[in-house]
Amino acid sequence: MIQDHPPLTVLLAAPRGFCAGVERAIQAVEDALERTGKPVYVRHEIVHNNRVVDDLKRKGAIFVEDVAEIPDGAVAIFSAHGVSRAVEREAAGRGLSVLDATCPLVRRVHLEGQRHAKAGREVIVIGHRGHVEIEGTTGQIDGTVHVIESVAEALTVPVLNPERIAYITQTTLSVDDTREIIAALKARFPNIQGPDVKTICYATQNRQMAVRVIARRAERIIVCGARNSSNTNRLCEVAVNEGRQALLLQDPKDLTLAFIDGAAVIGLTAGASAPEDLVQEALARLAQWRRLTVEEVSVTREDAQFAPVDLSRLVNQLAN
Ligand code: SF4
Repeated sequence: MIQDHPPLTVLLAAPRGFCAGVERAIQAVEDALERTGKPVYVRHEIVHNNRVVDDLKRKGAIFVEDVAEIPDGAVAIFSAHGVSRAVEREAAGRGLSVLDATCPLVRRVHLEGQRHAKAGREVIVIGHRGHVEIEGTTGQIDGTVHVIESVAEALTVPVLNPERIAYITQTTLSVDDTREIIAALKARFPNIQGPDVKTICYATQNRQMAVRVIARRAERIIVCGARNSSNTNRLCEVAVNEGRQALLLQDPKDLTLAFIDGAAVIGLTAGASAPEDLVQEALARLAQWRRLTVEEVSVTREDAQFAPVDLSRLVNQLAN
């Protein structure tokens, strides 16, 4: 019975949830389904969230991991995480009609890396090996590329010419960890060129700032999002670094009474690829157990918008 339990204050982080790049990528798939009237193949999860992917599957999108799985000449969409040049070449060679939903901020990192490579610099990419964004970014740079994940690797990564080095970062890293890695690189390579933490995208930075603020008041933190979502995992890490227990909640059904047991204040947020529905379902679940006071804690206003993915070339190509 709700009456048997003390009330619970929920601090809702703002900003949270969908960023402009995720909204743009999802819209691109929906527009392609509507305007092409053809099967639409999406390489990799368009954004890292099962709920989003399942919804698009119901609408007709077909998700594959490899361009080789897409029939010749079909419509192919590249996910927000970006792809390597090799994937672009393979798609072109197969005659696929490509719609590229790479986030413009990921694309900016590709261009930055390529600019350094053209200037003859080895490029150190700070990011998570095996993450699809890093595969895309390293595969967009013609030159020597090293991926590092930690301060220890910054201190040991073998380079050819310490005088001609640059770094770029994955867009969804921990701002704090990345600062330390960059400081280690700068100490080792005084002439290194790079963008400070600026290529960690605005959405990642804002969500980390917001979760840090609520973690200072809340006893435990719930982060809605997918286990394979980099920015969602980083939000949990920020909460843990503030000394709070963090729960990465992929499905609101997994939220248990035990997690809020004895707590008076809980924090709630969502990764950049998690729909607001998940947050509202988590709130509804909490409301089954405790009388809630919900307080939104806003640390900044977000008004970033990207131009939609342009479908006109694809539609014309299919018409001819
Ligand atoms: Fe783009 Fe950042 Fe969103 Fe990734 S998290 S899609 S880089 S805005």
